[in-house]
Amino acid sequence: MTAILWLRRDLRRDDLPALIAAQKAAGSDGVLPVFVLDPVLWEGAGAARQQALADALARVHDDYDGALVVRSGDPAHVVPALVAEVGATSVHVSGESTPYGRRRGTAVQTALGDVPMVATGTPYAISPGRIRTQAGTPYQAFTPFSRAWRALGYPGPAATPSGVRWLRDVPSEPLPEPDVAPEREAAPDRDPTQTWAEFLHDGLADYDSARDRPDLDATSRLSEHLKFGALHPRTLLADIAAHPAADTKGAHRFVDQLIWREFYADVLWHRPHTAWSDFRPIGDLGGDPDHEEQSAAHWQAWCEGRTGYPYVDAGMRQLLARGWMHNRLRMVTASFLVKDLHLRWQHGARFFLQHLRDGDIASNNHGWQWAAGTGTDAAPYVRVFNPVTQGRRFDPDGDYVRRWVPELRHVPGADAHEPWRTADGYADGYAGRIVDHAEQRREALARFHAASGQS
Ligand code: FAD
Repeated sequence: MTAILWLRRDLRRDDLPALIAAQKAAGSDGVLPVFVLDPVLWEGAGAARQQALADALARVHDDYDGALVVRSGDPAHVVPALVAEVGATSVHVSGESTPYGRRRGTAVQTALGDVPMVATGTPYAISPGRIRTQAGTPYQAFTPFSRAWRALGYPGPAATPSGVRWLRDVPSEPLPEPDVAPEREAAPDRDPTQTWAEFLHDGLADYDSARDRPDLDATSRLSEHLKFGALHPRTLLADIAAHPAADTKGAHRFVDQLIWREFYADVLWHRPHTAWSDFRPIGDLGGDPDHEEQSAAHWQAWCEGRTGYPYVDAGMRQLLARGWMHNRLRMVTASFLVKDLHLRWQHGARFFLQHLRDGDIASNNHGWQWAAGTGTDAAPYVRVFNPVTQGRRFDPDGDYVRRWVPELRHVPGADAHEPWRTADGYADGYAGRIVDHAEQRREALARFHAASGQS
């Protein structure tokens, strides 16, 4: 009774309940691990996410002793064809929660007819959709959700099955070749388990105090591994619980971040439209049709890290070079696009998804809505990040800016955040500010009050 294990966002072998289910279903017959390269997802991802996926697939290929079969095409055709090819009687997956993933799953199940597609587990510690208020409604804000999440509890890691018989000699396509981004530095591809072990050892205890400092490299860098499922949050939570630092503020704050990930997946599960529409609509904040050309120039400057605000530009250049940006910078650059340049959050969200290795529709698009003031939290639209004070506070010596903006390497200390205040700030060709922050903050608030009818 051959079973197919269709891997999607769970590119690992350990702590994988769907693999256990597949082995059980197969009995003494073989399990065929399969990855379907879906052109909709592959072509929609930029070079960075394609590379992250290719790296994850190369690792999983080794984890499965070379038994992984890759096929490309629409899964609604590819999976049933493979079922027929190897005579499988069941297909095993981890449950999906994104709008596209759910639609695709339904299409595949329909195409499979009587062959069951069995979902066991999800990429989350608690499956999206499970946590509800006493009234049975979904939570709308993070804090009560996180309380309910912690109270509900989650299962421990699943054991890694031994003695699985892999089905061999099924033809596979080669691993995919990502598009090349010529300007990108080779991002260090770090082994997920080692990255996690190093963070547990060196970073967890101080995470609370250091996590907001982009100059310190104090966060876990696990986002792409969680995105593609090289590590499951269950594994991380169990390791944290067993760690001497388990009761520190650092560990508590780190678990909070994992819960943010779960929260946004839950929001998307209940309200799929919030992927691209406001969770909390404000009204029309308006572009200015007379200034379309200026908007296009502003957009281009933001994308290329040439806004003239060093902290914003450093963040955007880190994104372009590494396919990753520190969380604080994601908030600041997003706020700048929406509140200083008055462009819609959806443009920025799409750009991030094109350039992040960890690009994830739930975390990204709700993160953007958080910054835009249209999201789940009660934080009002009137919260506008000041890129200079943010920089001075979280990059107090200017090191992060100098690392990513070479034109400012000659400006010492925190002055790198305000080259306009130093005599030779522009000596190496750094661009002037494209807008005045104080002015644009007033403009953003005026637009908000006009759109929302609030005075
Ligand atoms: P750590 O600080 O070590 O956190 C550990 C893990 O917790 C992360 O790997 C991530 O899985 C999760 N996490 C942390 N912060 C958040 C958060 N605010 N929301 C959801 N999950 C979180 N995260 C993505 O994984 N993919 C995205 O596409 C993405 N886009 C974002 C866009 C914006 C505008 C904002 C404000 C945030 C976005 N985030 C996204 C969340 C966060 O910035 C990244 O998860 C984090 O910077 C990744 O670095 P890390 O793994 O070192 O994080």
